[in-house]
Amino acid sequence: MLRLTEIKLPLSHTEGELKAAILKRLNIAEDAFISHIVFKRGVDARKPRAILLTYTLDVEVCDEAAILARCKSDLHLTVSPDTNYHFVTQAPQNLASRPVVIGLGPAGLFAGLLLAQMGFRPLILERGKAVRERTKDTFGLWRQGVLNPESNVQFGEGGAGTFSDGKLYSQIKDPRYLGRKVLDEFVKAGAPPEILYESHPHIGTFKLVGMVEKMRATIQSLGGEIRFESRVDDIEIEDCAVSGVVLASGERIATTHLVLAVGHSARDTFEMIHKRGIYIEAKPFSIGFRIEHPQALIDRARYGVNAGNPQLGAADYKLVHHASNGRSVYSFCMCPGGTVVAATSEPGRVVTNGMSQYSRNERNANAGIVVGITPEVDYPSDPLAGVEFQRRWESRAFELGGGTYQAP
Ligand SMILES: Cc1cc2nc3c(=O)[nH]c(=O)nc-3n(C[C@H](O)[C@H](O)[C@H](O)COP(=O)(O)OP(=O)(O)OC[C@H]3O[C@@H](n4cnc5c(N)ncnc54)[C@H](O)[C@@H]3O)c2cc1C
Repeated sequence: MLRLTEIKLPLSHTEGELKAAILKRLNIAEDAFISHIVFKRGVDARKPRAILLTYTLDVEVCDEAAILARCKSDLHLTVSPDTNYHFVTQAPQNLASRPVVIGLGPAGLFAGLLLAQMGFRPLILERGKAVRERTKDTFGLWRQGVLNPESNVQFGEGGAGTFSDGKLYSQIKDPRYLGRKVLDEFVKAGAPPEILYESHPHIGTFKLVGMVEKMRATIQSLGGEIRFESRVDDIEIEDCAVSGVVLASGERIATTHLVLAVGHSARDTFEMIHKRGIYIEAKPFSIGFRIEHPQALIDRARYGVNAGNPQLGAADYKLVHHASNGRSVYSFCMCPGGTVVAATSEPGRVVTNGMSQYSRNERNANAGIVVGITPEVDYPSDPLAGVEFQRRWESRAFELGGGTYQAP
């Protein structure tokens, strides 16, 4: 296969025009062309009157070597890379003890899935409830203002990612195509196949719920086990090595291999880990608020006369400002056609986030507007000082909002 990048065509192009562009770029006749797959498709909206679709394609042709030799000065033509996932190992036949994964958010789900696929039959311990029950508790917070500290937007099957926009891209480089494995597994679990090639793929909350359940079933079918309402309250360490975990119920589970996939919000668990003498360090993070505006305004600003074109969907944006004091303020987790939701897991606090459905057809767009802060400057001393910093602002937001969990 050959990888062709930077093929640009107008929004309204046909399949035939895409094929013609391939033949022209490779300078080959139609009978030398076998097939093509769209690897990525992005939107170039820098000129709103002439929006282009930008393709990265994998093309199968006769006599690949001759084409490569002839086009060796073309920087946008290479051999297609291997994007398959390769397992790092397989479990031994006589597996002595099962690995334990704490948390069933995106990290725990994939750790559990990969361990199961490699034959390790992991045990996954999740403090919250299974996703359907958890959904009821989450709507209890949004509609009745009742918070269940163990079953909410942050805690429960699927983790913080379940009630979300389901944006599946980041700015992290991925030279080993590990993200491809994630997307492939999502498609197997029922995600729309276009997430494999859209440059800004997203899934949306309702689809995520069913997908998380299917992935759980896959883990179980491979010998994995998942236990809900099983909060890990202690980690046992003997001779500087993990020997087991203790649940809130008092039950002890022996294990020598532990994956901590507890996410950003398990503050009690961070404290336990710190008390246990396990090394942790404070990280820089960003703090801010959510801004909301009519989606139609963003569509017009980005796409001009093409606003509303179903091929483009709801427009997104990105803002950055480098302030003279050295700090940078930027938009984060922009949610086209979504809603702002309350996302706390602690009583008496307000945190906001953005979520949407697959259609992204809500009236408003929203985005976090945040500023980067660091342990050195903003929350020095203790590794957990950043958590206290967060709590302070979240409590103030709760008071300012009238002492309810309404957001905004
Ligand atoms: C409303 C919302 C919208 C978001 N939108 C996006 C988006 O569009 N795109 C994106 O990339 N990111 C988004 N995020 C962020 C994303 O959800 C998180 O980055 C991601 O969920 C982190 O995954 P994780 O598995 O590390 O942790 P989490 O998802 O936080 O999962 C950790 C899990 O561990 C469990 N747990 C914690 N402590 C224990 C314990 N002691 N014992 C047992 N279980 C425990 C928790 O219950 C939880 O289920 C959004 C977040 C929210 C809240």
